[in-house]
Amino acid sequence: MIDSYGRRINYLRISVTDLCNLRCRYCMPEKGIKKINYENILRLEEIVTISQEFVALGVDKIRITGGEPLVRKNILKLVEDTAKLKGLKELAMTTNGTLLREYAADLKNAGLNRINISLDTLNPMKYRHITKGGRLKDVLAGIEKAKAAGLLPLKLNVVLIKGFNDNEIEDFIKLTQHEEIDVRFIELMPIGEVRHWSLNKYLSNNIILEKSKELISVKNEDTASPAQYFKLPDGKGRVGLINPISCKFCSKCNRIRLTADGKLKNCLHSNEEIDLRNALRNEEDIKKIIINLVNNKPKEHKLEQGDYIDRNMIAIGG
Ligand code: SAM
Ligand code: SF4
Repeated sequence: MIDSYGRRINYLRISVTDLCNLRCRYCMPEKGIKKINYENILRLEEIVTISQEFVALGVDKIRITGGEPLVRKNILKLVEDTAKLKGLKELAMTTNGTLLREYAADLKNAGLNRINISLDTLNPMKYRHITKGGRLKDVLAGIEKAKAAGLLPLKLNVVLIKGFNDNEIEDFIKLTQHEEIDVRFIELMPIGEVRHWSLNKYLSNNIILEKSKELISVKNEDTASPAQYFKLPDGKGRVGLINPISCKFCSKCNRIRLTADGKLKNCLHSNEEIDLRNALRNEEDIKKIIINLVNNKPKEHKLEQGDYIDRNMIAIGG
C-alpha cells in the first residue's frame, strides 16, 4: 500500500493486550489504567483475521506488542498462526523481557523471528524504581534465553531519561562490543496521562554521540527503520538512535498500529482512531477501511507544537 505522500506502508504493530506486569513511570499512569472490558478486546482469531487482510494488502512485517504481550493468554498460538500467514516476511515482538526465560524457546519454535527487549537501566535498584517493582535479574535471564533460542540479532530498547540513566550510556554501549546485540536509545516521548512526568526528563539523543566519540556511523540496510546506527570500532553489535523528537522520521514512516481493543491508528501521535473491531464483527469490508486509513495517514506529527495524545502508551504498544 502506498499512502498519499508516497510512503510504502508495509508494517503493522499489534498491541495484543493493555495489561502489563510492570508499571514503568513514563508509560503507565500513577493510578493505573481503566481496564478494557474483556468483550471489547480483540479475540486471537480476530487478530489473525485482521493480520491476514493486512498481509493480503502488502504488509510484510508484523510486530506483536502490548502492554506486555507475554501476559496475553495463548500468546504462543497467536504467534504460531500469524507466522503462517503467506507473504509475511518478518514476525517480531517487543517485550519487557521479564517472562522471556519461560517463553523464549517456545516463541522461536512458534515462528517468531526477532525480539526487542526494553531495558532502561542495568542497576537492580533503579530497575525496580522505574518499573515500580520489576526485578532486573528476570530480564537478564530472559535475554540469555532469547540468545540461546536464536532470537537474533537481539535489540535492547533503552528510553533515555534525564537524571535517571544518562550516566549509564557508556555501560549500555559497551554491551555491543563483544556480542551481536543492538542497543537502541529512544527519546522519551510525552504521551497519554503521564506526559507531564516525561516533559522535564527529556534528553536529546545527541548526548549519546557527545559522550561516546568513538562511535562510527554505519549504514542501516532497513531504509524504513527510524534508527540511525553506529558501531564501536570492532564492535559486534550496533548502537541505534531513535529520535522521534529531535529528528522526526515521519517522512519514512511505514507503519500502522492496531490496539488491543481493535482501533486502527495511522499515526502514534494522533488521536484519530478507526474502530475495526465492530466493523469486523458487523462483517463490514475491512479491506476498504484499511485502504482508506492508509490514504488518510497524516504527513507528520506535531509533537513539537505540544500536540500530545490522550491514549496511554501502554494501550498503544510503542
Ligand atoms: N511491554 C513491552 C515493553 O515494555 O517492551 C511492550 C510495550 S511498551 C509500550 C513498547 C515500548 O514503548 C517500550 O520499549 C517502552 O520503553 C516504550 N515506551 C513506552 N512509553 C514511552 C515513552 N513515553 N517514550 C518513549 N518510549 C516509550
Ligand atoms: Fe509495561 Fe512496557 Fe509500559 Fe513498561 S513500557 S509499563 S513494561 S507496557
